[in-house]
Amino acid sequence: MRVAVQGCCHGEMDAIYATLAAAEQRTGQKTDLLLCCGDFHSLRGAGDLDCIAVPAKYKQLGDFHKYYSGEREAPCLTIFIGGNHEASNYLQELGFGGWVAPNIYYLGYCGAVRVGHLRISGLSGIFKRHDYPLGHFEAPPYDRSTLRSVYHVRRHDVWKLQQLGGVEDGVTDVMMSHDWPRGIARCGNTEELLRRKSFLRDEVNDNSLGSAPGEELLNALRPAYWFAAHLHVKFPALVAHRLGRPRPAAPAGASDPPPGAEGSQTKFLALGKCLPGHDFLQILEMPAPEAGAAAAEGGAAGGGSPVLRYDRRWLAVTKAAAPYFHVGRSAFRPPQEHALREQLSAAEAFVAAAHPTEESLVVPTNFVIPAAPYAVNGQTEAMLGALGLDAAATLQGRAPQPGQQQAAQQPAATLDGLKSQAAKRRRELEAEEANAPTGGMLDGEIDLD
Ligand code: 5GP
Ligand code: MN
Repeated sequence: MRVAVQGCCHGEMDAIYATLAAAEQRTGQKTDLLLCCGDFHSLRGAGDLDCIAVPAKYKQLGDFHKYYSGEREAPCLTIFIGGNHEASNYLQELGFGGWVAPNIYYLGYCGAVRVGHLRISGLSGIFKRHDYPLGHFEAPPYDRSTLRSVYHVRRHDVWKLQQLGGVEDGVTDVMMSHDWPRGIARCGNTEELLRRKSFLRDEVNDNSLGSAPGEELLNALRPAYWFAAHLHVKFPALVAHRLGRPRPAAPAGASDPPPGAEGSQTKFLALGKCLPGHDFLQILEMPAPEAGAAAAEGGAAGGGSPVLRYDRRWLAVTKAAAPYFHVGRSAFRPPQEHALREQLSAAEAFVAAAHPTEESLVVPTNFVIPAAPYAVNGQTEAMLGALGLDAAATLQGRAPQPGQQQAAQQPAATLDGLKSQAAKRRRELEAEEANAPTGGMLDGEIDLD
């Protein structure tokens, strides 16, 4: 399967698809799938301009609205994550993933899908420590502050991705993030990177460049590929997964362990933004499924266009994690391990029964331009509804919160127990306060180069 990877898109859909068409002409081979690593800029019309954080000179519609209205059609299946320049009102409607236009699928705040036999997962947004523990409290109309915080990565979503689990739960073939996982700049040709982006030197030296949760996910998921954008530079790196910490790897050899396993490697690639002369697009050949499986799975290896499918494990994670989705500013606290394990295995049984065949996993092509205003996007309603979840309640965080559930399951509290709980909570709040916003540069004020 030929997979094209794009760095930042910035609304340049026409130019990106034209580049793919030119590559097809040159090579005679069609691209099956396009992966876009954020700053996608999916503005449906002028009404969305108030919901994107960009300097005034970049407040332009871009090309996306043509794909939304049907004036143009995406020539291949396109999957994207969000960055820090997005129509955040639109993406928030589809926070659990969905079609933003025909053939263009947003992975949500976080998500995983299947294309052929590949599991493709992603995390939207950029990491800012002060907003990390909070719920998704932002809603349009945004003010100056929420216009930016809305795209900051949340612990809840990273925790969900961690539930994709180890090798036994299926390999994560591809992971996408907008900002780079921390530490990755040291796993490639660092000097060449610093020659091109010398202002990154201090951050590379003190290892503060990139996303700490991204690094955690890289360690936990050990995907075969990790694609990123944001720093507007092409940068390949190779990561060896040994002793739980990413570090530079020797070039991959024939006998390398499979993705996810101890000793496996991740091929990392960051790309630039879509401008003439920039390295913004890379086309890769990804292993196709076995010949027999190809026909069953449909898709490129079977001769047709690849089909987008739900990932069973991700559906189970979505179902089990839904009660912990919250929209307040309180810090997210994951449930206890044993409770989560039980909820996950119940959710897996539900998903196995609801989706017994590959065919039943196909993501419905249910994109519509709504005729009337709506409270919940119909795709989100359908997706969560199929998991037995009430979309409106889930999105409002009305499902029972972890604390409440645990309290109900626990035996009668003792005075000592309550005191130690209170002391623990106080320590947590003090720690949160220490990490509170300190001001400084706003994301939208970083110069675009
Ligand atoms: P964007 O296109 O998202 O507005 O901005 C991307 C630009 O911001 C990059 O070209 C880079 O110059 C800058 N940038 C983003 N993140 C960082 C960071 O963590 N450190 C530094 N020094 N620059 C960053
Ligand atoms: Mn960016």
